[in-house]
Amino acid sequence: MTGSAANWQYAPAPESTKVEIKTQYGLFIDGAFRDPMSGRFFDTINPATEAPLARIAEADGRDVDSAVQAARKALKRWRRTPAIERAKYLYRIARRIQERARELAVLETMNNGKPIRETRDEDVPLAAAHFFHHAGWCDKLHFAFPTSDGKHPASVGVCGQIIPWNFPLLMAAWKIAPALACGNTVVLKPAETTSLTALRLAEILQEVDLPPGVVNIITGGGESGREIVAHHDIDKIAFTGSTEVGRSIATSVAGTKKRLTLELGGKSPNIIFADAAIDQAIEGVVSAIWANQGQVCCAGSRLLVEESVADEVIAKLRHRMKSLRVGDPLDKNTDVGAINSRAQLDRIEHYIKAGIAEGAAHNAHNDVALPPKGFWCRPCFFTGVQPAHTIAREEIFGPVLAVMTFRTPDEAVARANNTMYGLSAGIWTSRGSKAYEIARQIKAGVIWCNTFNQFDPAAPFGGYRESGFGREGGRSGLAAYLA
Ligand code: NAD
Repeated sequence: MTGSAANWQYAPAPESTKVEIKTQYGLFIDGAFRDPMSGRFFDTINPATEAPLARIAEADGRDVDSAVQAARKALKRWRRTPAIERAKYLYRIARRIQERARELAVLETMNNGKPIRETRDEDVPLAAAHFFHHAGWCDKLHFAFPTSDGKHPASVGVCGQIIPWNFPLLMAAWKIAPALACGNTVVLKPAETTSLTALRLAEILQEVDLPPGVVNIITGGGESGREIVAHHDIDKIAFTGSTEVGRSIATSVAGTKKRLTLELGGKSPNIIFADAAIDQAIEGVVSAIWANQGQVCCAGSRLLVEESVADEVIAKLRHRMKSLRVGDPLDKNTDVGAINSRAQLDRIEHYIKAGIAEGAAHNAHNDVALPPKGFWCRPCFFTGVQPAHTIAREEIFGPVLAVMTFRTPDEAVARANNTMYGLSAGIWTSRGSKAYEIARQIKAGVIWCNTFNQFDPAAPFGGYRESGFGREGGRSGLAAYLA
């Protein structure tokens, strides 16, 4: 190998696609798969090739009603199941996820478009970790949430859970594991473009003999989600998705007795101070905005750089961007895979055009040949961005970074907080006192120092303001599932 990293050639290292995919999937209700009442199915595709993978059932109000009834019926028994027994189910689910990890990773990559390196090393292990972590909580809840009679705290009841497409299996784990640990039952709806791993999880639930009705998985689009939110016999709605849909859900739940948690969008700042280890910070920026093609709610999509090191940071960032390998998500060398859908790609391209039209400078990774089919966006960053620019304000949900500069810590904080969101932030500095002082002033639910995008089931995750409310993970995440 000669030349710079950008010119290195690698032999393809594709992961085998040998996983079982049925031609058609029904709804998982009361422990069994069944066809939707309407008889309607829709195609789910591989966004990297546009090839259809399977047909997915579209649930309507009648199916949602059956699922809610199954969850209600199962609730009594599940609540009475001794906590230590509940823990065993969660533990078995975690073990089965580990045992079927390769299959889940391949399936996720094929249905979502994200690189196999991420599904294999992050999504699937973290999903298993969430079930392990919550298995441990089942019989210890009364220590963290003491009750007057010393008994275990009561669960909320039947939970309607709606999740997005960017981390399909992981979001299902984030939702299901704490709900079950606390003794709730679940009706979960994955996003319409990425249902396959949730349905594979349903098979795992059958394998571990989870009692029928404890978890029901309903597939379909926004309308199926609306039916869950509107159902009269649901006690709690847990929603992860866009701020726009989150707002409409908050409106429809207002005035009912349903409890609600919302994990919504973000436009998170990633702040590099001049005293930071710059090379390390550049790696953090790569993870913050180009992991999962930037389709991450907590993506560090606004890079704030101290002016004195801005030239160095931008030069190094450009160099590093050009070493990213874009293409076949199933290739183990790939850093940046496919965008999840045509609609999302159109949205990202709209923002790139807006950035250029507003006068920011577009720096894209133009050295790669993109595959002929599928939905692809070159990683890029904009310099010369003003806080008022659309690309500095709105969530793009793609591999597009807006770079801005600051002169003083106060200005960094003001720029970081200049957003309607409040999900995450990154701070890069070699001084602990500065990191602490800045973190204290930033309005975000999660703040990373000298790292980015680190997740752990014990660490609560969630936002402020338009990024939603409620936490997932850790003790705070459990609180949302206890009465
Ligand atoms: P989305 O809001 O379009 O869809 C999310 C889910 O809601 C899907 O399952 C969808 O079918 C369903 N849905 C759509 N309309 C609905 C309605 N009216 N009622 C009920 N359900 C409805 O979001 P998306 O495009 O799938 O995901 C991207 C968004 O999710 C981004 O804004 C991202 O920031 C956010 N997100 C947030 C977090 C977090 O933890 N804060 C995590 C991941 C993604």
